Amino acid sequence: MLESLKVKIVEVAIKAENYGLCKEKAGNFSIRDKDTGYILITPSGIGREELKTEHICVLDLDGNVIEAEKGIKPSSEVLMHIEIYKVRANVNAVSHTHSLYATAFSVANKPIIPIVYESVNYGGYVDIAPYERPGTLELAKSVSKLLLDTDACLLERHGLTTVSNDLEDALLKSRYVEEAAEIYYRSLVLNQFKEPKAVDIDEFAEWKYPEEIKF
Ligand SMILES: [Zn+2]
Repeated sequence: MLESLKVKIVEVAIKAENYGLCKEKAGNFSIRDKDTGYILITPSGIGREELKTEHICVLDLDGNVIEAEKGIKPSSEVLMHIEIYKVRANVNAVSHTHSLYATAFSVANKPIIPIVYESVNYGGYVDIAPYERPGTLELAKSVSKLLLDTDACLLERHGLTTVSNDLEDALLKSRYVEEAAEIYYRSLVLNQFKEPKAVDIDEFAEWKYPEEIKF
């Protein structure tokens, strides 16, 4: 069922690995089907090199597995995805990665301030959900609470979760956060760990295409 969404998830999961956002069997991706309300998610314990559409699992918001190949289980972090969909009606895709720089900030317990304009694409400021054991309802609650009014959050000592209406866009947000984290880190190193100036996101939100350019 829902084959086109399964194809999309496999494509995005492979792209995420190729972009260096997740390695080995870490990272998980999901889409909510708008018609049925079902969640489609990557499986537990299968790396991207062998990931196929038949490995994608289908669940409802109560955690009932609607469809899964024999021997295949949904990602161990599926509860986090479910809780996010429960609290964000306008979100239909979730990307969870362990990318290097973003995860380093999560380990240092240091939020990523908006230092480049691209930060506006995910809410500007990436805060940190307090540590809870991976896969637990406690972690799911902690992350979904932070994502109530932003599209990206770090998970303390763990990684990054981004959300969107579309999985390609959720992946793009993961890339923007990872890039911002790397630039932030490098600017700190270059400047003896003096904090860089943050971008005023509110001001950028009012930006309009220049009238001087005429079509
Ligand atoms: Zn994880």
